[in-house]
Amino acid sequence: MPVIALDLGGTRIKFGVVENGQLLASASIVVPSSDSFAALLPLIEQQIGQMMQETGSASLDGIGMAFPTIVDSDRMRLLYKYTKYNDANDLDLTDWAKTTWGAPLFMENDARAALVGEWQYGAGKGTNNLVMVTIGTGVGSAALMNGRLLKGSHYLAGNLGGHQNIRFDGHRCNCGNIGCLESEASSWALPELLKRHPGYAESPFAMGEDPDFEAVFRLAAAGEKFALSVRASCLEVWAAGILNLVYAYDPERIVIGGGVMHSAEVILPFIQNKINQAAWLPENAVTVVAAQQPDWAGVLGMGHLAS
Ligand SMILES: [Zn+2]
Repeated sequence: MPVIALDLGGTRIKFGVVENGQLLASASIVVPSSDSFAALLPLIEQQIGQMMQETGSASLDGIGMAFPTIVDSDRMRLLYKYTKYNDANDLDLTDWAKTTWGAPLFMENDARAALVGEWQYGAGKGTNNLVMVTIGTGVGSAALMNGRLLKGSHYLAGNLGGHQNIRFDGHRCNCGNIGCLESEASSWALPELLKRHPGYAESPFAMGEDPDFEAVFRLAAAGEKFALSVRASCLEVWAAGILNLVYAYDPERIVIGGGVMHSAEVILPFIQNKINQAAWLPENAVTVVAAQQPDWAGVLGMGHLAS
């Protein structure tokens, strides 16, 4: 029997009907703006029902949900406020899944689900020691050691790579700390980083260029000096963070995903070289590769976990 897997993002929910690692049907819906997860459940039920019908699935083996927050994946509870839906922590989703679908519920953090998706069906195949880093709005991470997802005593282990300290005298992060990896190089931090970068006033960004990584990489590829300098700074930050993850988790392979990987041809060799030069390991003992399932890793991984 198939399982249904959901990957809950900031504005979208991705759905997949998964059986034996195959995505039998998929959908990505924009969720109406509401701060109530309870109010969203009828829409989720409708979508699941429709997809079961599409795939001729009379019943489900399980329902998997990946959330962008810290998840107790033993008791199936969210441990921190899911900022978009303040009521999500208080709902008994296990009971909802059982009552509505007669199926067990599985929950996991979204970065861990994406790691499992890449491990089983993507760039992480063939190794049991894997770190995944997603560089997007923020920077997410997850780690697999000896074939086991790292969770730790508070379900944080491996998950908050974006908040490792890179520059103790750096910029204020949205977590309250100073100089986190993501306050030094991520999409949410980039507009402010650009303004603080030397030479901003004469840069294309001061003349109305979009303050995003697409523009930084495009202008840098064309040789624009300010963009080259910003790109160099961000690459150093990501490489420093990923080197820390190499020492923390001793992976065989690191999978990098996220929007910036449109520029993988610049990012991957830079980080690979940095690890080769700096890590206390033989050359290429750790390989740095691009995610192969950038859109559906979370759904496929959650499908695997719920099977
Ligand atoms: Zn932080």
